Amino acid sequence: MLCTMKAIQVHRAGGPEVLQLSDLPTPSPGPGQVLIRVKAAGLNFADILYVAGEYLVRTRYPTVPGMEFAGIIEALGEEVAGLQVGQRVAALGGSGAFAEYAVVHARSVLPVLPSMSAAEAAAFPVSYFTAYFALQTQARAQPGEWVLIQAAAGALGTASIQIAKALGLRVVALASSEEKLALCRSLGADVTLLNTQDNLVDAVKNATEGHGVDILMEVVGGAGFAQSLKMLAYRGRLLVIGSASRELAQIYPVGLMKGNQSVMGVWLTPFLSDPALMQAATAFLMPLLASGKVKPVVGERFKLEEAARAFDFVLSRKNTGKVILEP
Ligand code: NDP
Repeated sequence: MLCTMKAIQVHRAGGPEVLQLSDLPTPSPGPGQVLIRVKAAGLNFADILYVAGEYLVRTRYPTVPGMEFAGIIEALGEEVAGLQVGQRVAALGGSGAFAEYAVVHARSVLPVLPSMSAAEAAAFPVSYFTAYFALQTQARAQPGEWVLIQAAAGALGTASIQIAKALGLRVVALASSEEKLALCRSLGADVTLLNTQDNLVDAVKNATEGHGVDILMEVVGGAGFAQSLKMLAYRGRLLVIGSASRELAQIYPVGLMKGNQSVMGVWLTPFLSDPALMQAATAFLMPLLASGKVKPVVGERFKLEEAARAFDFVLSRKNTGKVILEP
């Protein structure tokens, strides 16, 4: 292991132009921590917001972004049990993954199945845990219910289609191109609709035989939020998971009363420090992965030094599945 490494460093808030390939000291693991050689890192929309200083946690610059990755354990800090140097693992949480090496707490380390590539393992944690917590923990999805998934061909979207089908839900998938909708159908979406079409509320109502959707995974926000509320069924639950439009949305709370409807937030980060919920999620997800019933959709792959192009790619809505950065 060299004492310096390549990393994407950010010194100020901004877009892809603030990402700098830098030589930084290779970190060493403290007590309870693990040093991992990064083989592949997942690029999430949250990384774009984090770099821009628009995420739910404050960004402290300079920083190395990247919150999920897969790789090989290089060194263990003191007091780490149950992990071994040379082991293939994935990791979730915090920052620092857009680098050749990253240090994480041992409790942030996840197992990797032998059948999974590094890119698949890196594409898994954020999207699948979020999909599970959104549908199962927050919305308490019941088999046979309708769920509408926005940005359904993206990283969270493709994971959500697979988890929704595993939970026995009926899926309406929205995306911005026919190619993206074809991917959604291949993953099991029952109904696919272009999010650009006119009268989307009517189209969703027709597709669900007038019922509306029981659960709606809202990730765009802004002006479309009011439209999402109109798609909800009686006792429908609208999950606020993201705001890719980066615009404010308005809500009229009294309007929820007539249909006994709910609007609820979903954020992965607080769930990560709840051991019981993490255990339940892992127990649900790992057998699905092992059986091949769910399989992370790996999208475009970029070299670490192409991080700015990768950010541009997601911002211009070209990606399907998870964009991967490889050191
Ligand atoms: P995606 O891979 O889904 O990429 C973003 C997608 O959002 C685009 O492909 C596009 O799909 C859609 N989109 C709609 N409006 C815009 C816009 N103005 N600019 C760019 N994209 C837009 O990203 P992720 O899976 O990483 O994240 C999807 C959403 O889920 C984000 O809002 C993210 O913040 C949120 N999220 C939240 C989590 C949580 O814990 N709450 C965890 C993970 C993700 P299309 O072209 O088909 O419309």
